[in-house]
Amino acid sequence: MQEVAPRPSALVLTDRDGTLIRDVPYLSRLEDIALLPGVAKTIRTLNRLEIPVVVVTNQSGVARGYFSEAFVRDSHDRINAILAGEGARVDLFLYCPHLAGVGIAPYDMDCTCRKPRSGMLKRALEEFSLLPERAMMVGDSLRDVEAAADLGIAGYLISSGIPSSATLSPRIVSSFSAAVEDFLTEKNLLLPERSPNVS
Ligand SMILES: [Zn+2]
Repeated sequence: MQEVAPRPSALVLTDRDGTLIRDVPYLSRLEDIALLPGVAKTIRTLNRLEIPVVVVTNQSGVARGYFSEAFVRDSHDRINAILAGEGARVDLFLYCPHLAGVGIAPYDMDCTCRKPRSGMLKRALEEFSLLPERAMMVGDSLRDVEAAADLGIAGYLISSGIPSSATLSPRIVSSFSAAVEDFLTEKNLLLPERSPNVS
């Protein structure tokens, strides 16, 4: 008999550069990959809660000819190798290698996956058979919350100030971890903490 994995209770979608890892413009060397503070611990918590973590990242450096798709995949393997050392893992990496107008073939296209479009987020919801109300998206760019808003997903913007946007009212947070904590609290998904002072 085949086991069917139960549908998860929620889904965490996250940007990559500047959200999970240090922001290096057009990161093209594996040795430049470094997790931001708190990321491994938060992902470990999500793993324990069986809440899938999905990276959705624009990688137009592929279309611009700065690096290959193979490098993008290698960088994701590296991120998971670093996380494995901390007992954590990203469940799925989705990336958009496209850029219309200036990209090289076959990546020069007006795709539906490049954020602020929501193609990658939609695919993630489908992958785990979840409704948008059960998902959150966090990133350090308005494009991230625009993509979330397009599907009715709660969008968190990592920012040190209030961005000016006529159409969006993202939840402003200081970090990936702060966004996840807010979401888990709102959805009542946090595991009860064991208090050492109560017997
Ligand atoms: Zn794309």
